[in-house]
Formats: sequence, C-alpha cells, structure tokens
Amino acid sequence: MWEETRQAEERKVESMSSFESFGLNRRVLQAIHDMGFEEPSPIQAACIPVVLEGRDVIGQAQTGTGKTAAFGIPLVERVSTEPRVQAIVLTPTRELAIQVAGEIRKIAKYKRVRSVPIYGGQSIVHQIRALKQGVQIVIGTPGRVLDHIHRGTLSLSDVRMVVLDEADEMLDMGFIDDIEAILRETPSDRQTMLFSATFPNEVKRLALRYMRDPQHITVNRGEVTVPQIDQVCYKVLERNKLDSLCRIVDSEDIQLGIIFCRTKRGVDDLVEALLARGYLADGLHGDLSQAQRDRVMRKFRKNEIELLVATDVAARGLDVDDVTHVINYDVPQDPESYVHRIGRTGRAGKRGLAITLVTPREYKLLKQIEREIKQKITVREVPSLEDVAERQAEMWRSKIVDVIREGGLAPYRAILSGLVDEHDPIDIASALLKLASSGDGNRTESDEYDFGDTGARPGMVRFFVNVGRTSRMSPQDFVRAISEEAGVPGDAVGRIDMFEKFTFIEVEEESAPFVYEALRQSRINGTRVNLEPAKPRSSRR
Ligand code: AMP
Repeated sequence: MWEETRQAEERKVESMSSFESFGLNRRVLQAIHDMGFEEPSPIQAACIPVVLEGRDVIGQAQTGTGKTAAFGIPLVERVSTEPRVQAIVLTPTRELAIQVAGEIRKIAKYKRVRSVPIYGGQSIVHQIRALKQGVQIVIGTPGRVLDHIHRGTLSLSDVRMVVLDEADEMLDMGFIDDIEAILRETPSDRQTMLFSATFPNEVKRLALRYMRDPQHITVNRGEVTVPQIDQVCYKVLERNKLDSLCRIVDSEDIQLGIIFCRTKRGVDDLVEALLARGYLADGLHGDLSQAQRDRVMRKFRKNEIELLVATDVAARGLDVDDVTHVINYDVPQDPESYVHRIGRTGRAGKRGLAITLVTPREYKLLKQIEREIKQKITVREVPSLEDVAERQAEMWRSKIVDVIREGGLAPYRAILSGLVDEHDPIDIASALLKLASSGDGNRTESDEYDFGDTGARPGMVRFFVNVGRTSRMSPQDFVRAISEEAGVPGDAVGRIDMFEKFTFIEVEEESAPFVYEALRQSRINGTRVNLEPAKPRSSRR
C-alpha cells in the first residue's frame, strides 16, 4: 500500500537529514520553508553541518546541485546583525553574483542581515552607497571587489567567512592575482569555503595555500543501478518552460505521468498553470495533510488525473505500476535522485519514458548525470519557438473571447472611451495585450539570453572566440566541442571564420544560449577558450 510505504519512508527520511536537524535559527528555517525546499540536497546535507562547525570546506559541485544554499544557509546563520562586512563570496561573473545575492537575500528574509552584489559594469557610486548602508555579506566579482578595497569603500578586516564560488572558472578567467590580493585583506583566522566543478592544479594550489585542513565534500559518488528506461531530454529556455512542457505533453500519449519539480512552490505553481490550460493535474508535496494526499492518490489511481506533479520527497513512497511517463520539469540535483525519479516508470515490465527538461545553465549537470549513470539521454528537438508562440497566441485569443462572453465590461469601457478618439482601437487592444503578456511568467533578466546585434545572418547568433589558427584549432574542433558540450548538432552551426588569433562562429538562434553556457569559459583540446557574443561589423574590434 502506498500509505504504509510512505510512512516507512518518512521515518527513514527523518533519520537521514532535514533542515531542522542542523539546529538552525528559527528565522532561517522559516525562510527555507518559504523557498519551498523540502529537504537538503546531497551537497547541502554534507556541507551545512561542517560549515556550521567552522571548518574549511572544499565542495565539488555543479550549478543545479543546490550549492548556493549549501554555503548561503550557514553564511546567513553565522553572521551577526552588526553592520560590518563579515562574509564575502567571490564569483566569476556578474550573472552569478546577482543570482547568489538573490538566493542569500531569500535565506536572510527574516533575519536582519543585508547582502549586496558588487560587479563590474554597474555604477560604482551606486555600489558605494549600498555598501555604506551597513551590509554583512558582500557577493562580488574579484576585479570589482578589489577596486572597492583600493578606493577604501570596502574593508574586509572583520570578515570571518570567505567563499570562492566556481573557483575553476575564476582561475580560468585569470582572476588568480585578484583573488590572492583579496584573501590577503581578510584576517588569517577566517573560515574559507571553495566550490568548484573541476579540480585542476591551479585550484588545488589555491586551496593548499589559503585553506586550513579543509574537509573535502563530493556528492554523486555512490553506485547507482539504473533501470532500463528510454531517456530523452528537451532543451528549453526558462521563459518557455511551461509552453514547452505543454507541447511535449500534447505530443506524447500519456496515460499516467508524474512531473517532478524541485520545490513545493514549484509544484503548486505548475499545478495551477496546468489546470488553467485544461490539463487534469494535481500536486503532491510535504505540506499537504494526510487526508489531502490520500485524496490526490485516489484520484490518480482512478485515472481522474493524468498528470501528478510532485516533489522528490512526496513521490518517494509512491507505489504505482502504470506510470507511462516521468517528466523532470527541473533537472534533479544528483544522479541518485535522477535514478529514483525515472524508476517510477517502466515498472512491471511495461514500457516507460523518462523526459527531462533542461535549460542552458543546467546542461552541464545533466551531462554529468549521463556520465555517472553510464546511459545515453537522447537530445530531442526543441519545440520550435514559432509553435510555442502560436500556442500562446491561441490561448490569448480564447481567453479574450471568454472574457467578452462573460460580460461585465462596462467599467473598463469607460476607461477606454477617451482613448478611442485618439488611437486606433486595434492599437489600444494590442497595447493591453502586450502589457498583459509581459506580466505572464516570471522572467528574470539573466535568463533572457538577448545577445543583441551580433552581425549574424537572420535567425543566427555570431560568437567571438578568443582562439584561432595559431592555437592549432580547426573548424571541426569547434563543431565537435559544440556538439559534445552543448548537445547542439553540426547542422545548427553556420559559418565559421577562423583568423590567426580569433574565430567567429555562427549558430542558430535557438541553440545559442546552450552554446554560450557550455563554451563561454571552457577548454577545447586542452586550450582555454573564451566565447562571447560578437559585435556587429561596424564596431568590430
Ligand atoms: P544552485 O545549484 O545553487 O544553482 O541551485 C539550483 C536551484 O535549486 C536553485 O533554484 C535553488 O533555489 C534550488 N534549490 C537549492 N536547494 C534546494 C533544496 N534543498 N530543495 C529544492 N530546491 C533547492
């Protein structure tokens, strides 16, 4: 029985690790709860207690594993509310600095701890003002942090905790001198944490030099037995995720599907969105009462719902045989969780399909999972943007017709009556639609991937790469790297213009975010490579 299994599982979970078991401050726990996290991810379970003890930590983790909260939670827990900079996080890019600051701000929601991101490209005056307000945690890129130290607008003499996030990338970008200069500004009895996806010698040297008896933490080891299930992934952008999911669901013959989300909030939001689009969906997560869960499960078994949306925890004890599809709406945080999730389908000798939606930033994590489970996850064609756009247009048309049919529009007519004299009614309606659709979904600046004018042909994006013929690189090497690292087939790659010291590569617009995330800082044939959007011809370097 499902209920019994679930209770047994729950006992097991309690004895494993929970956020409560870390002895965190009530305010921090409440914030974690609000973020919708049900249980610590493996890297968090391993890191948080060690960091809370005050030890140095070296963590091996990719983006998507929950590494930010793995250091963010103990950071917020351990700093005092005194208005002095007590912790500093160094990140390779401004995007990451903004992202980390966002996550830390959420963790600090109920504690009077201020954090501020500082990075190049933003007005330094604005940052100086923010720093003057008395912040406890600074998150920044090495160059800009050093700049503030030199100007005397940032003092690190009270810093107790330092985090080097994505250390391998920072070193690849040539930040070693800056990082060392910053570390020298901090007290020597500080606690240092270093996170990195890979450990080349430079990273090891840095750790050896600046860390004291660090504890090494790696997740993703442990043997995993992977069931024989067909596995595919779809490459999607954050902003099209819901539409892409709907298209995928529409194109599959799903009798019974489970859709996995990372957080409880993710489950609630997705269920609501699916119901609004007419799917038979319901959700399962740890905040539901037993009665609510039983009701959802009854509906599921009676085929009254076709899509069950769940968190890992809620689905753990689930015992149903007829699941035809498992869909990972978010990439799972580690291979074990991936294997657990996909094991929900293809049971009792039936065929099953595991589908994973992957955004550009998560692609490396999925590749790592693929390597660890030693099975191929086939990349399927991204649902075309035109198809998705057409679907959205259809949805709007039918919504508008519904609203007109419902009536009750008199008060709104009154607002518009003055405008009609001066503007075309179609323009007015179009403007309203634009307003309405820009409020749809939760776009963030960093997932837009607007590369601007790169001087590419229509439908393509042109990238500048800082290596050329003198690095003994051939166009084939680039095509191979793009295929292997970004999962983008050769026919999506357009012109490749190689020069002595640099190269221009065109790729199809839809694949561009994946190529950018996979190769912006990387190595091809052992050579360090930096890839960025090209400038249009007129302003070319
Ligand atoms: P990161 O690896 O830090 O980039 O985190 C990836 C995503 O996972 C972020 O959206 C986090 O908010 C989310 N996340 C982190 N920890 C957890 C957790 N314990 N449960 C659910 N989601 C999490």
